[in-house]
Amino acid sequence: MNSDCLFCKIAAREIPAQIVYEDENTLAFLDINPVNPGHTLVIPKKHSVDIFEIEEKDWGAVMHVSRRIAHALERALKPAGINLGMNNRAGAGQMVFHSHVHVMPRFEGDPHKPWPGHPYAEGAFAATGDKIRAALNSESD
Ligand code: AMP
Ligand code: ZN
Repeated sequence: MNSDCLFCKIAAREIPAQIVYEDENTLAFLDINPVNPGHTLVIPKKHSVDIFEIEEKDWGAVMHVSRRIAHALERALKPAGINLGMNNRAGAGQMVFHSHVHVMPRFEGDPHKPWPGHPYAEGAFAATGDKIRAALNSESD
């Protein structure tokens, strides 16, 4: 427990939340400022800042629960679709620095669009693939 962390406080029941699911390692609760009603956050109970810090076991648990939440949203709210998202570091829009996955129901006519795509510059498609393959081949984590 990180005593300065909002989501640790939610997990410790020090701050109220609409908790929809809990198990030994994870917690899922409604986002207070949702893109749509039902937008749910899935967190590991053990504090970690982001994808770079979360342990493999906790990540697996968060992914497992995110799938369950998506299925529950499907049954409960009958959305047109569901987005999963995770912001890592301020540079990606992270505001709460305790790892969390957003499970976001989408409805016909809602104003939210997928992120924009931009085509690669000449040669950059293969070069980018090369860089990432090299990084994966030299991984230490
Ligand atoms: P981000 O760190 O950008 O991935 O987003 C943090 C998310 O936490 C935002 O979507 C907020 O609306 C949400 N949030 C902030 N405070 C609370 C809270 N007390 N209870 C539930 N959700 C919250
Ligand atoms: Zn925390």
